[in-house]
Amino acid sequence: MWEDGWIQVKVPLPFSLRWVNSYVLPEQDGYTVIDPGLHTEEAVAAWDEVMSRFGFGYGDIRQIVLTHQHPDHYGLAGYFQKRSGAPVYLTAQAHAYTQRMWGEGGTLAGELAALFREHGMPAELTHSIEQNLESFKPLVSPQPQVTYIQAGQTMAFGGLEWSLIDAPGHARGALVFYNAGRKIALCGDQVMPRITPNVSVVPGEDADPLASFMDSLAGLESLGVKLAFPGHRDPFDGFAKRTAELRQHHERRLAQMLEQLYEPHNGFELCELHFGERLRTNPHNLRFAMAETLAHLYYLEKRGVIARSESENDIVYRRV
Ligand SMILES: [Zn+2]
Repeated sequence: MWEDGWIQVKVPLPFSLRWVNSYVLPEQDGYTVIDPGLHTEEAVAAWDEVMSRFGFGYGDIRQIVLTHQHPDHYGLAGYFQKRSGAPVYLTAQAHAYTQRMWGEGGTLAGELAALFREHGMPAELTHSIEQNLESFKPLVSPQPQVTYIQAGQTMAFGGLEWSLIDAPGHARGALVFYNAGRKIALCGDQVMPRITPNVSVVPGEDADPLASFMDSLAGLESLGVKLAFPGHRDPFDGFAKRTAELRQHHERRLAQMLEQLYEPHNGFELCELHFGERLRTNPHNLRFAMAETLAHLYYLEKRGVIARSESENDIVYRRV
């Protein structure tokens, strides 16, 4: 329990992250649910247990608010909507990703595999990544009817007024919800204790997601958040210290990559130098590692300190 009867629900996940936080905020006549979780049997059972413990049901849910579109946050939104009839709020940019990834005729998984192949990843690995992405479809079904919200607006829930702040880099269209009176933030995956949010290149989206992420952290740091409610792990203070640590983490990695690029390397080679070959058997984490490596390479390339050369087989980077 936090702030005025808020309930932090640790919704189980079948990955190393172990759980995603949903927050249930009491309203006059029901509840607002933030990020209900991934649609698995275990997650539904966990929700049944929470609802019976706190004495509410799906019919008491007045709205479902999503910080971003990743399956561990978005997956149960449609299931909750079906049972509650409540609106699901998400930004248009985030919703576009869900349709490109899991919608009818969505091509994003294939585009991602093609991008990774261009950057040197062997075809058998890109194939396992595509299969892994395919396996998420039932975990985000049924998909919700979405009502769009956008950065710059305000929203009221949990008895408080929230500013919606654009928080790109981890997911395009992600929002941080900030209440200036109490200096508290619902920050999704943008800033978390002990976990470094994945920053990924997504084909057809932001061409420099790492720069967007770093800029976003700088902006969030200036808010003076006193208590942050993250998507994973537990609510935490020391928000500005954490955003500074995250920026330093990426600056160190950029410096390491620059060092490594005195020798020419393709993206996949650099991915394995940083994250290790053991990821070959874990397509889920390999995808994060590869897309994050590319985010760093694109960042350095945009700043003119490395350059690419394209061969028949792959794209190779080196320091200029
Ligand atoms: Zn996420």
